[in-house]
Amino acid sequence: MTDDVREVLRSPMRELHVSIPVRMDDGRTKVFQGFRVQYNDAKGPTKGGIRFHPDETIDTVRALAAWMTWKCSLLDLPLGGGKGGVICNPKELSENELERLSRGYVDQIWQFMGPDKDVPAPDVYTTPQIMAWMMDEYSKITGRNEFGCITGKPVCIGGSCGRDDATARGGMYTIREAAKELGIDLTKATVAIQGYGNAGCNAGFLVRDLFGSKVLAISDSKGGIYNEDGLDLDLACSVKKDTCTVVNSPREGTQKISNEDLLELDVDILITAALENVITKENAPNVKAKIIAELANGPTTPEADEILFKNGVHIIPDFLCNAGGVTVSYFEMVQNIDRYCWDVEDVYKRLDDRMTRAYHTVLDTSRAYNINMRQAAYVVAVSRVVEAMKMRGWIKMG
Ligand code: NAD
Repeated sequence: MTDDVREVLRSPMRELHVSIPVRMDDGRTKVFQGFRVQYNDAKGPTKGGIRFHPDETIDTVRALAAWMTWKCSLLDLPLGGGKGGVICNPKELSENELERLSRGYVDQIWQFMGPDKDVPAPDVYTTPQIMAWMMDEYSKITGRNEFGCITGKPVCIGGSCGRDDATARGGMYTIREAAKELGIDLTKATVAIQGYGNAGCNAGFLVRDLFGSKVLAISDSKGGIYNEDGLDLDLACSVKKDTCTVVNSPREGTQKISNEDLLELDVDILITAALENVITKENAPNVKAKIIAELANGPTTPEADEILFKNGVHIIPDFLCNAGGVTVSYFEMVQNIDRYCWDVEDVYKRLDDRMTRAYHTVLDTSRAYNINMRQAAYVVAVSRVVEAMKMRGWIKMG
């Protein structure tokens, strides 16, 4: 990488800091701080979620915007990377306050967003309803029905079929390809899933329903459960709904397990779908899974990466494994531009094609340079962005 490239990629291209005045239900006006970062748009309009969180910081948003740049590039989407955030606690806001905050955020950033500039999406604590309010506000300001200004909308106003479980489903296609490479028969494979939220729960059902694999263990922030004959996922799901955790699942033969022990289980596939930095240099030597599918962002530390690579564990890195969500968001943009709705099978097929192609490009690169899958994913993603910057004349050729 040349000095010019480093210089351009070191900082975001645009960073917006806004104050959003919101009339609260009690008549007071409260001012919320928000951000929108457009990290790099060499390959197209920037894309990335908006987070509503009390601990949001510009540093997190900036880092996530850079990550979105690599994720979109890795999937070969004609998009750059961005991210947004508002410092707030949505659980403490009424629905009317949440709507006013969502519209207020758009009032502050609308000149910088739009289908050809920057297209936000849902992220932590933001929902399809919030995306609907934001799209409506943007459309009112611009005087046009601009459905393509934001993705993750409800299907009745231009959302895409298949968006709900797109992250987990995209991960499944990469697991299927990895299993083929490693000679693992998925119909007989065993699976453990750390983090039984949106991504993890969908992953559990999909690994069972698409492949016939057996899920032996799942967990959430309160702990986990394990059954050597396979868990009853429907039961676990309803227990989680009723008690907010999976740990009370009553089936015979099911025992409690800690999150730490779950990571070291003797299973074929370990799916991480919770937090960052859970596989470290301390526990990496004890990981027995043959494949780690990183649905979570950043679950493996760099030191652990090296240990796992040496031990022959096949990692499907986060910004490949969990790229199904942004890929279907891109499909939503395309459908909005054409004013056309693809049926769900069409969405699955296109997602499968994209994820499979990206997986094999990363695998081939890792073999060609004898580097691990994560390093290979960065090589592919960054070089595409660099290529685009060169063609646009931002940095010199050669
Ligand atoms: P979520 O909040 O729905 O679920 C997270 C789950 O992790 C919850 O069940 C929670 O109880 C559990 N958890 C929290 N702390 C834990 C701990 N210490 N040990 C075990 N489990 C713990 O979130 P999500 O949307 O499913 O996202 C999960 C991960 O996937 C995050 O890293 C997120 O960035 C990543 N991701 C999600 C999507 C998506 O579309 N949902 C897309 C890309 C990446």
